[in-house]
Amino acid sequence: MFWDEEIEGLSCDEMTHIQGEKLRKQVKHAYERIEFYRKRFDAIGVNPGEIKTVEDISSLPFTTKSDLRNNYPYGFCAVPHSDIIRVHASSGTTGKPTPVFHTKKDLENWINCMARNCYIAGIRQDDVCQIAFRYALFTGAFGHHLGAERIGATVIPMSSGQTERQLMMMQDFKTTVLHCTPSYAITIAEKMIDMGIDKRSLSLRLGIHGAEPMTEELRGEIEEGLGILSIGDYGLTELGGPGVSIECPEQAGYHINEDYFFPEIVDPETLKPLPDGEIGELVFTTLQKEALALIRYRTRDITHLERGRCACGRTLIRHKPIKGRTDDMLIIGGVNFFPSQLESVLLGFEEVEPHYVIRLTKKGRLDHVSVDIETTPAFWSKSSQDARAGLTRKMEMRAKDLLGFRIEISVVEPSSIPRSEGKAKRVIDNR
Ligand code: ADP
Ligand code: ZN
Repeated sequence: MFWDEEIEGLSCDEMTHIQGEKLRKQVKHAYERIEFYRKRFDAIGVNPGEIKTVEDISSLPFTTKSDLRNNYPYGFCAVPHSDIIRVHASSGTTGKPTPVFHTKKDLENWINCMARNCYIAGIRQDDVCQIAFRYALFTGAFGHHLGAERIGATVIPMSSGQTERQLMMMQDFKTTVLHCTPSYAITIAEKMIDMGIDKRSLSLRLGIHGAEPMTEELRGEIEEGLGILSIGDYGLTELGGPGVSIECPEQAGYHINEDYFFPEIVDPETLKPLPDGEIGELVFTTLQKEALALIRYRTRDITHLERGRCACGRTLIRHKPIKGRTDDMLIIGGVNFFPSQLESVLLGFEEVEPHYVIRLTKKGRLDHVSVDIETTPAFWSKSSQDARAGLTRKMEMRAKDLLGFRIEISVVEPSSIPRSEGKAKRVIDNR
């Protein structure tokens, strides 16, 4: 039933014991091999020998994305360069890319994490997996590719884009599992309608969707549009990419590979650890990395943890869906909110499609939020000006109830908003 019988059903005490042992070694490795950590530990007077159990982790310093940037490219590399067999990097939309390095053992561990994840999601040997993440420096495609291949499934390395071709491959090779971002899944579902492809004529049964947030409402659209079960997959380049956590078919939180990545939730302001169940910033310490050991890495992703056996039988700790990133959080009129909260409101209306942009502007000294969202082709072709105005009014009221401030919503013509083949860019900040 499990990919890793030994690990996936461990009791909390057994897991904590294993984590403690691995943490001790990892901290020593980081201290001895990475100058950044040696200096940080010394500055706050922490001796790596004092770290004996996972409880001791709270005395260790945090690591941030800017620490990685300031030590670009090799500052965090803990092995001789000749031991590195693979480099990947984040998209680097806000500066230099953030690289990740793998030794032979790191790559093997990544494959194991990804195989475990694919298996938890429900992939088996007789599946045909179409990888529609972009094959590039970006980690997503390679991770999914390696994991599905290790299970013994058939892998089709399509990359993203060329949506008509994607659909042709799905038809001809009877693809059963689609791996892509949630927004690309929506783009594919829409193309199926354009091309007159009935979802029941495909063999697709499962979608593995990651690299960006997926609200329950968006998941509903994907499941309906493609006729599949949609599973959320989470990771970040700094930790190696996908392979950090994944949902099982219960869709009851993301099981974390906690024998590889030790999770904490901290208050993003005070950095104090928070108890299970409280919402805060997700922080990870790698437990088995050779090349890129990271201590208390701040992901900026907001969620909470849940312990206990899942209905699937696994005890691997779960985090809830990511609400957003601290750096995506919008503060309007003193109210904090995440674009995903607004998405939930918008997609609650059946007259609209999951294609929208949020625009932030200044009106005088105040911030102003406006949204353009497409309606369904059926609503657009049938509705009067009054009906469209009535719809936007209802949406604006619901948004105000939830968020507490006014948002200006306009419905726009179907297909007028650019489609995404990777991570969607949904917020345009013109302030
Ligand atoms: P970047 O976007 O900074 O270039 P990555 O490509 O490594 O970096 O993206 C990692 C980030 O993507 C995560 O920190 C998280 O914010 C987001 N992400 C990845 N998977 C998910 C998911 N399943 N749900 C929500 N957010 C996700
Ligand atoms: Zn489960």
